Amino acid sequence: MFEKILIANRGEIALRVIRACREMGIKSVAVHSTADSDAMHVRMADEAICIGPAASANSYLSVSAIVSACEITGADAIHPGYGFLSENASFVQILEDHDITFIGPTAEHIRIMGDKITAKDTMKKLGVPCVPGSDGGVPTLADAKRVAAEIGYPVIIKATAGGGGRGMKVAQTAADIESAFHNARSESKAAFGNDEVYLEKYLTTPRHIEIQVFGDGKGNAVHLGERDCSLQRRHQKVFEEAPGPAITPELRARIGKVCADAVASINYIGAGTIEFLFENDEFYFIEMNTRLQVEHPVTEGIFGVDLVREQIRVAEGLPMSFTQDDLVINGHAIEVRINAEKLPNFSPCPGKVVSFHAPGGLGVRMDSALYAGYSIPPYYDSLIGKLIVHGRDRTEALARLARALNELIIDGIDTTIPLFHALLQEPDIQSGDYNIHWLEHWLETHLQ
Ligand code: ADP
Repeated sequence: MFEKILIANRGEIALRVIRACREMGIKSVAVHSTADSDAMHVRMADEAICIGPAASANSYLSVSAIVSACEITGADAIHPGYGFLSENASFVQILEDHDITFIGPTAEHIRIMGDKITAKDTMKKLGVPCVPGSDGGVPTLADAKRVAAEIGYPVIIKATAGGGGRGMKVAQTAADIESAFHNARSESKAAFGNDEVYLEKYLTTPRHIEIQVFGDGKGNAVHLGERDCSLQRRHQKVFEEAPGPAITPELRARIGKVCADAVASINYIGAGTIEFLFENDEFYFIEMNTRLQVEHPVTEGIFGVDLVREQIRVAEGLPMSFTQDDLVINGHAIEVRINAEKLPNFSPCPGKVVSFHAPGGLGVRMDSALYAGYSIPPYYDSLIGKLIVHGRDRTEALARLARALNELIIDGIDTTIPLFHALLQEPDIQSGDYNIHWLEHWLETHLQ
């Protein structure tokens, strides 16, 4: 059994993992940059260790600093949270070589799924339906033109190393293909140091539906239904819910089984998310995330399970604490992402939080590392909190979200809270009738 876990992350997700450790009687170690000495995760962990300067490249992304911190503090295992090193196969390989347990999948799983072309190819072979597109990469403009003509416009050029919505460009017609191809490649080269791209049919009215899977590393795996994360700005999720308003029990059972069988067959260990676009009752695989997702609390809400606890259990070699039959959906959950950003442009707005009041009451969960007097540093992601509500059904969850948003106070900085007040007034949000393009269209007409 683990006695001590080091959390290679910061902010709300570091707190989230500390909470699970504490409930399991496991000691926690926080790591932090010099800019984060006053951060909540540092205060809440049993131990804290500074691993470098503000720039994440030299602290939260520094493999040598994190491995040293682990050796100095005597931690048995590392939980990576999301982002930072959570999907870095060479980091996981180094931990494997040093006999430090990584709470997540193997380096090999991360390698397969981290490259989107290999991931798509693997999923196709495992029987998972994929978006029509190129077989592998499109190395030249001529290849891109040929494949696009075959599958028909619009198409999207995507970086195989892509993530966070970067390295993706749409060509509506043949006139756009040259600029889409070059822009996707140069953006990917700049962001990921890799300019390999592939091409897919661009779906015009899909929903983003992702399936939560969980494996024990010994050939057993379950699915925990879907999350609908269609409300996105610049391909980044802002509002997530489970179950998906458009997903029937039959669709869920069908795609869930395909996903659970696929990960079971590769002896996948821990939490994973298989992302799909969903249009006209068909699922099309886009990518797999081999880690805990930001939006995992909505799944926890409807199944009443603690996914971080479960990750720790399987990393210790214990069996999963539930079977597929135990996983029964109860009610509806919604998460909204609160960012330190100024509307209407969503420009980052770090600074001092003068007052902070988290909402409470039945069915309300606030995952945040904020406190009154805290200065949000300008160096990291602008996510400062997640408000998650649970209700007996979607209508109750929406009413609870409106109520909880009214109670939430964050003074001193600008946040995305007003966006959610406005969205809740929209009939399409109330009825669940939206797709991945809905929010961008709405923002053009409502916020400018
Ligand atoms: P990332 O890893 O950067 O998040 P994804 O492949 O997961 O990239 O895609 C992110 C989002 O981009 C999707 O949720 C969807 O909104 C949009 N997208 C990706 N592929 C397509 C496609 N073939 N057609 C339409 N939209 C797409």
